[in-house]
Amino acid sequence: MAITITDECINCGACEPECPNNAIYEGGVEWAIADGTGVKGVYTLEDGKEVSVDEQLQPIEDDYYFIAPDKCTECKGFHEEPQCAAVCPVDCCVPDPDRVETEEQLLARKERLHV
Ligand code: SF4
Ligand code: SF4
Repeated sequence: MAITITDECINCGACEPECPNNAIYEGGVEWAIADGTGVKGVYTLEDGKEVSVDEQLQPIEDDYYFIAPDKCTECKGFHEEPQCAAVCPVDCCVPDPDRVETEEQLLARKERLHV
């Protein structure tokens, strides 16, 4: 399943540079599929919506760091464990129970993001 950041986040920023998919953004910041990935052109999000990879998408949280679930692979294909959770000083990077995904799904996303 994708990892999510809870409202216990203290906005320290330690997790952001550790993400191999550039899936982590500061609260209130717009995000894009193309940030830190290899995709070009149009990308289909998990909800079926098609976006330009450069399109600036709305922040998912305004007050603390957030993870764009369309870019989180739980670090599959890169690391043994979620790197955000490994560095977070308050343990607020946790599995999202609303986004249970298989290893195959996560690895497929990794392949889509890093073509
Ligand atoms: S689990 Fe890995 S891929 Fe997902 S947000 Fe954390 S560091 Fe990024
Ligand atoms: S490392 Fe944890 S506390 Fe720091 S910004 Fe990331 S989620 Fe928030």
